Amino acid sequence: MVLRQPIGRLAVAISMLWLATHASAAQVPRGLPTPGFQPPATVPNRPFVLPPGLRRPTWTCTRGDGAPCGHAELARSGLYRQVLILPTGYRADERDRFFADAEVLRTTVSAAPSPEVFSAKYRSQLLYVTLWVPGGDLGSSAVLGGRTYLDPTRGERLTFDPQAVSETVAATRHALIPQLSPEAVVLIFDTPTSARGYSTIPSYTGKPFGIVPIAAGEVTNAELAVHELGHGLLSWVDEYVESGLEEFSIKAFDALTPSIAWQGNLATLATQVGDPLATYDLKLSEILADNGADNVASSQFPGTVTPGGSEAYETEGALGLGLDVWHNTGPSIMGRDQSFAFAHTAAQERIAATIFGGRFRSGRANDRLRNAGPLEWRGQFGSDTTVVMFDGDKNHRWHPTVRYDIQVGWF
Ligand SMILES: [Zn+2]
Repeated sequence: MVLRQPIGRLAVAISMLWLATHASAAQVPRGLPTPGFQPPATVPNRPFVLPPGLRRPTWTCTRGDGAPCGHAELARSGLYRQVLILPTGYRADERDRFFADAEVLRTTVSAAPSPEVFSAKYRSQLLYVTLWVPGGDLGSSAVLGGRTYLDPTRGERLTFDPQAVSETVAATRHALIPQLSPEAVVLIFDTPTSARGYSTIPSYTGKPFGIVPIAAGEVTNAELAVHELGHGLLSWVDEYVESGLEEFSIKAFDALTPSIAWQGNLATLATQVGDPLATYDLKLSEILADNGADNVASSQFPGTVTPGGSEAYETEGALGLGLDVWHNTGPSIMGRDQSFAFAHTAAQERIAATIFGGRFRSGRANDRLRNAGPLEWRGQFGSDTTVVMFDGDKNHRWHPTVRYDIQVGWF
C-alpha cells in the first residue's frame, strides 16, 4: 500500500516510525507523484509502505448505523449494547477477509428487511466490536476451537470451545479494551458452506453473553443472523415446533426431574429432607420454560401474583415442543418457516424496549412466582420449615429478581 495522502496524525506517526526503523530497506522509485506528506528534510522523499501488521488495527468498533465508536461509547454500557465478533478458522494471512465478512454481517443485521426488527430499530445503540485473532484452519488448529462435524440428521454443523471464547474475552478486556463487556459474541467460521450451529442462551448458561456461531457463507442471511442474535444477545428461545413433536408436552420432562443435579440451596434442602420431590413441587418443565427467556412461558397466563396474570401468551408450542409451553401470537424472528417473520411479538417488543429503553425499566412486574411447597405441613419438620418458591424471573436476562420481602404469619 502506497500512502499518497496524509491520512491523519496517527498514520503519519506510524509512517515516520516505520520509515525510521526501516529506512534502509526502502528504495526511492523515480517519477512518482510527490506524496502529500512532506517528511523532514533529513529523510529522503519516498513513498511510505506500512508493514502488514500496521495496516489496520487489531480491532474495530462500528455502531449498527455505521458510525465509528471507541472507548467512550464502549464505556456507556447502559445506553449501548456490545456485540463482539471473533474469527475461527481464519489463518494469519486471511485477516482482511475476516474483517470484510464481519462488516457484511453487521450491515446484514442492521439493515434487516423490516426496520422494526430490533437490530435495525435500535442499531444506533448496538456496538459491533470486531477483534482479529489469527489461528489455523477449522479443525484442530483453529483458534477458539472452531470445527465442523457431520450430524446424522442435520448435516454439517458448527461447534466451538465456549471456555476458550470466555478466556479470549477476559484477556482482551485485560490487555486491549478495558470497556469490553459484550452481551453476545458472534463467531464467524471460515467456511463458505451454510453449516449451522447452536447459539448459547445466556439466561440458561448463566454467562454474561451468549455465543452465536455463523458460517462465513451465511453472513448475508438476515433471517439466520437476527434469529441467532435473538438467542445469543436477547436470550430468547425458539417459538416454533419441530415436526414430529406437535403432540409432545414439555411436561414429559417432569419425569426426569429426580435425575437433575441439585445445586445451591436445593442441594442443602436435599440433605435436610431427603428426597426433595416428596416434599416440594419442583418441575423440570418449569425450570426449562421459565428460565428468564421471557418470550415463552410454561403457562398461558404466566403471572401468578396479579389476579389472572399480567399478560396472556395465547399460542401453544415453543422450544420445539407442541404442548404446554406458550408464546405470544404472531410470526416473529424466533419462529421458523411459516412462523418466521422480520417482526416481533408483543412480549418481544416489550423486552426489546426494556433492553434499549435507556432507563432500563422492566415492562412488567416480576410476578412469575409461586409457592412450591412443602406439599403438606407435617410435624416432622419441627420448629424449622423450609418454604420453597419458584421464581420464573430469578434468571431473567434483563430484569432478574434481586430481592424478596417475605412476611411470615399464622392464619
Ligand atoms: Zn433457534
